Amino acid sequence: MGSSGEWEAVWASARAADAALPSSRYSGRSGMGHFDILIIGGGAAGIAAARAAADAGCKSIALVERKQKLGGILLQCSHPGFGAGLTGEEYAAALVQDFPETVTLFFGTTVLSVEHNKTAHLSGDRQISFSQLILATGSREIPLGALPIAGTRPKGVYTAGQMQEMMNLHGFVPQGPVVILGSGDIGLIMASQIAAMGISVTLVEQKENCGGLARNRRCLKDNSIRLICSQTIDAVEGSPALTGCCLSGGEKIACRTLLIAAGLVPERGLLAELGMPSWLQMCGNCNTVYPMAEGVTADGRKAGIAAFQKIRGKL
Ligand SMILES: Cc1cc2nc3c(=O)[nH]c(=O)nc-3n(C[C@H](O)[C@H](O)[C@H](O)COP(=O)(O)OP(=O)(O)OC[C@H]3O[C@@H](n4cnc5c(N)ncnc54)[C@H](O)[C@@H]3O)c2cc1C
Repeated sequence: MGSSGEWEAVWASARAADAALPSSRYSGRSGMGHFDILIIGGGAAGIAAARAAADAGCKSIALVERKQKLGGILLQCSHPGFGAGLTGEEYAAALVQDFPETVTLFFGTTVLSVEHNKTAHLSGDRQISFSQLILATGSREIPLGALPIAGTRPKGVYTAGQMQEMMNLHGFVPQGPVVILGSGDIGLIMASQIAAMGISVTLVEQKENCGGLARNRRCLKDNSIRLICSQTIDAVEGSPALTGCCLSGGEKIACRTLLIAAGLVPERGLLAELGMPSWLQMCGNCNTVYPMAEGVTADGRKAGIAAFQKIRGKL
């Protein structure tokens, strides 16, 4: 990806996929409502769960998503590799095609807490009661602050997913040189995209070998990306902005941007005081961090069907 024409083609494909997504189907219901199934999270897992429950015959489903559209992390993935060679946006567009009309969508709405009496508290001072809950809240990235890395917290440090969102959805260009900690798929994808813009990238990996899928590892050679294995970052330098990273082997690398791609943790904060009640299903990355979207959608479908079977069993 080098010329502006190629970038324009990427943006055009993203815009077309975007236009296919339902943007709003919720007309402002306020106060209390009841649904047989409440799904929290409108990424691949939540979409698949809603579709499966609706296809099985459930007519009372609410899906709550804090962003303004369905797709979750897929919307920021402009690289191919989803399903049969689709980009993340295209995969999301395919998932929501002919989305069941019976699913009530709450966009721009965050579930703040869930109580034992099967009530969810939503932003905007609203509540929903439900019979079955499906948690599809995805995962969160491990940030710099959670890692044993010395130094202050200068500007110029992001998680890889934050940078992916800023670059692919908001047109941000990172300042080089860039160092990326972690050579799993997310680190490799970001390294490849940034190096293709002509910015110098160094990948630092604490394991002996580069992680990630073979197709993503190929980018190292294709884009002359330097990979340093068996080392980690001991300290960051610079104030107020990042100027460099000190590696465990003693080398100091000058850089203006550091991306942390050190792993994902299932997002289950809403369960803190709930435990695992019998009316709860989890699916997608909040259940297990899946490397591929197909695993997420299969898990979502399973959860949607299981939730509806429980409701049917009670009727
Ligand atoms: C950088 C990256 C690259 C990837 N590349 C590939 C690839 O090439 N091929 C492939 O097959 N897979 C790839 N994957 C994996 C796959 O795309 C993801 O695992 C999958 O899309 C995750 O879906 P999910 O629904 O579990 O989570 P998410 O997509 O994270 O969706 C969770 C949703 O829940 C919402 N949410 C969370 N909490 C709340 C709340 N309290 N209230 C309301 N809404 C809430 C969020 O806004 C979000 O929309 C990649 C993943 C990443 C991160």
